Formats: sequence, C-alpha cells, structure tokens
Amino acid sequence: MRSERLLVLGSVLLVIAILSIVTFLLIRERANAELSTARAANNIVQLIDADVLRNVELYDVSLLGLIAASQREDLKSVSPAIRHLAYFDRATAAPYKGNILLLDNKGDVIADSASVEPRQGNYADREYFQSHVNNPDPGMFISPPFRARSPEQDWRISFSRRVNGSQGEFLGVAEAAMRLSYFDQLFNSLSIGRDSTVNLISKDGILLAQQPRLAEELIGRDFSNRPNFQRIVKEGNGSFTGFSSRHKDKRLYTFSKVGNLPLIVIVALSSDEVFAAWKRTAMVVSFATIALCVSLLWLTWLLCRELRRRHGAEQELAQLAATDPLTGLANRRSLDQALRHEWFRAQRSGLPLSVLMIDVDHFKAFNDRHGHQSGDDALRRVAKVISDHVRRPTDLVARYGGEEFSVILAETDSIGAQQIADNIRTAVEQLPLVGGDESPITVSIGLSTWTTASDIGLEQLLFVADKALYQAKENGRNRVVAVD
Ligand code: GH3
Ligand code: MG
Ligand code: MG
Repeated sequence: MRSERLLVLGSVLLVIAILSIVTFLLIRERANAELSTARAANNIVQLIDADVLRNVELYDVSLLGLIAASQREDLKSVSPAIRHLAYFDRATAAPYKGNILLLDNKGDVIADSASVEPRQGNYADREYFQSHVNNPDPGMFISPPFRARSPEQDWRISFSRRVNGSQGEFLGVAEAAMRLSYFDQLFNSLSIGRDSTVNLISKDGILLAQQPRLAEELIGRDFSNRPNFQRIVKEGNGSFTGFSSRHKDKRLYTFSKVGNLPLIVIVALSSDEVFAAWKRTAMVVSFATIALCVSLLWLTWLLCRELRRRHGAEQELAQLAATDPLTGLANRRSLDQALRHEWFRAQRSGLPLSVLMIDVDHFKAFNDRHGHQSGDDALRRVAKVISDHVRRPTDLVARYGGEEFSVILAETDSIGAQQIADNIRTAVEQLPLVGGDESPITVSIGLSTWTTASDIGLEQLLFVADKALYQAKENGRNRVVAVD
C-alpha cells in the first residue's frame, strides 16, 4: 500500500533526522566542554608563566646589581659588612630564593648573600660555571634543574651571569638559585578540580613540582620515556586528551613552556570531571530522544494498522458494490464498466468482441412449481455452470437481472462464442432434475459479435444480443442464436 509505505518511510527518515541532530548537538556540546576547559587550563598556565617571568626578571636585577657592585673600586676598601650590603641590596625581592653567590674565576665563593663571611666552597664543576668560562656572552644562563648540595637536597634552578673584566676577560660568575618549592606555593593558590593536577616538569622529563601531590616519591622521577611527555615536548604549547599512565584514565592535558626556562607546566584535568556535566545532559537528552523516537514509530505503526483496516473495509465495500449477492457473479454495474472497457480495447486492437445474453426458460413456472427458495438455488447452479465455461481472465460473467445473465468474451469471434454458448446450454441441460420434474432446466442464448467489419456501436451490441435471445425464445427455447 503506497500511503502506508510513504508513512513508514517518512517517520523512519524523521527518526533518523532527529537522531542525527541530537547526536550532532551532543558531540558539539562535548567539544565545547573540552574547549572551555582547555581555555581555563590555558589561563592557569599563562598565569604561572607570567608570575615566573616576573621572578626571573627580579633574579636578573639582583645578578646585575651584584656584578655592578663587584666592579666598583671604591667598594674594595670598605668594611665587609658595608660591602655585603652593597652587593646584595636588591636581592631581597624574589621569593623562594636560594642564596646569591659571587664566584671568582676559579669557582671559589667570594661573596655570599647568606652571610657577610662567604661560605667555603668551589662550584667550578657546575654546568653553569663551565658554560660561562667557555662563552664570553654576558647574557643570563639558566641551568637545568638540579638538587641542592644543602642538607634539604631540594630541587633548584640557577640563574647566572658571567663577570667580565675591562678587556672582556673572565673574572667569575654571579649566580642565584631559585627553589622549585616556589612552584608548589604558586600551584597551591590555584583551585582546580579533584583528581586534577598542576605539574612542573623539566624539559628533560624530571617531575619537579606537583599540586596536589599524588605521591611524594613522584617528585624527581624521570618521565622522559612516557609518550604523553614526548608529545608535550614536541608540541611545546597546546592541549590534548590522553591516557594517564598512572591513573589509567583519560585526562585533558594543557601545557606550556615556562617563559624561557627549561621548564614545562602541565595542567592535567580528569576527563571524568571535565565531562561530568556533559554526561548528565547527554543521558537526559538521549533518554528523551529515544522515548520520542519510539513514540513516533509506535504512532506510525498504529496509523498504519488503522489505514490497513480502512483499506480492507473499502475493498470489501467495493467488492460488495460490484457483486451480485445471490450468485456471487459481477452485477449489472460491473458488467457495464467491463463492457465499456473491453469495447474500447477492441476498438484499439481490432480484435473481435462477443456478448452472450442468457435467459432461463420458463423460470416463472419453475418458481411456481418449486418455490422461490428452490428458484434461487437453481439460479446459483446455472450461474456456476456459466462461470465454469468462461475461463479467460479478460472474460466476465454477470447477472444481468432476474433470471438473465450476460457474458463478455473479449478477443473472441462468433465461432468461438457460439462454441462456448453451446457448451453452456448443454451443461445447463445436463444439470440434475429438480424434485419431481420431468424436463431439465434449460437456457436460451442470444449471441452478438463485434468485428472490424460490423459497423455497430456499444449499445447496439447488447441490443443485437437481446434480439438474438428473443429469436431463440421464438424458435422454441433451449438453443443458441447468433447474429453478426
Ligand atoms: P421465458 O422462457 O419466456 O423466459 O419465461 P420466463 O418465465 O422465464 O420469463 P418471465 O420473464 O415471464 O419470468 C421470469 C421469472 O423469473 C419471474 C420470476 O419469478 C423469476 N425470477 C426472477 N428473478 C428471480 C430471483 O432472483 N429468484 C427467483 N427464485 N426467481 C426469480
Ligand atoms: Mg427473462
Ligand atoms: Mg426466462
């Protein structure tokens, strides 16, 4: 059924459209959640970056002050306490400083911010010292993170500058150390979700600070062989979602190099936290959408069932309207339709068209003898005999009215029609005798045929058959008369 198929197709398309739209929106919503979280994480990273840069500048100011003071001749003659003050007067501003040291060209400590009497020590083996010895560039050198020699052995980074003589000769190094516990304090002031961390990692992969601390022993561990870290080093700045090797869960990593330091800040947010709100929304929306789609399909099914019922009822009605209730044959109305149809078909094809008019003989008398009920039974039997002899699908047997029947024989000439009519007549005659009758039921048949040679109209075709039937009655009944 066409309308039913359209209905099903329409609602299936509608369901697909609804599902696609909802899926699209949910995916976009998820991407938005990820984006805004990455943005927030990036803000944290930028904040740290700015704070660190400001501190590095402060360290540099201290170093430059120290170098400038160390080269003043007039300070050589003042008392060590005054000289100490002059060397380190600007060195108090940076928080979480380690000591500031002035080393001579052999690496021995000649001034120490911690005390007027400099500590005993030689730092010639330090990487920064070696780099200044070999490089006349007066710019600041930033060391890789290292563990302090002090008893705490905490992680530090040192900032250093070369002290040049008037001819550019190497006089020594001014060095300041920053404790990386500074970052712990900085990270502490940031509020990020549970299960999420801010991490400071050296560009060689050593974890230097972490807030909140997941485990104490992680600090100082080498992460350089982890795929996530390798990706971070390669990309420098950005964010991605990856699996935490430690938590075995998905995390959103946002990361950035810290200023020009060999350090990287990584904000690792738990994916569960980032998408918690989205997940709740997605659940509700998915549930509602599925309920909607199921209702839609259910309504469609109901509608289809109703349509099918109506269609069935309509067909039944149409069948009733076209059928004769007594015999089950086509009625007069269908006969007219079919005859018109076959007539025009014959006009187009030029093939002959024959019509039989069949009337039961002396049927009034039969009724009078046996009663109306038996008359009806006899009519049904005659109808069946006629139907049994007309088999082609384009042929039609109809009850014309009363005890009269009509047969349309498409593509049949008068010889063929005569044959069929004779067969019908003989078969009716051979029906069993009805209670006490001496003679059988018989029929008279009038036959007319249209051919391209006979120039008659549709009405005339029936009229001629009727006339032939009349002729058959006149001639003594129980016979076939044909008129071309
Ligand atoms: P003829 O040989 O000249 O055709 O004689 P006839 O008696 O058959 O013709 P007539 O037209 O005088 O009578 C037709 C009779 O058919 C009248 C009626 O009693 C009977 N008849 C018509 N329709 C029905 C029907 O539906 N059921 C029954 N039982 N009888 C019917
Ligand atoms: Mg009659
Ligand atoms: Mg009759």
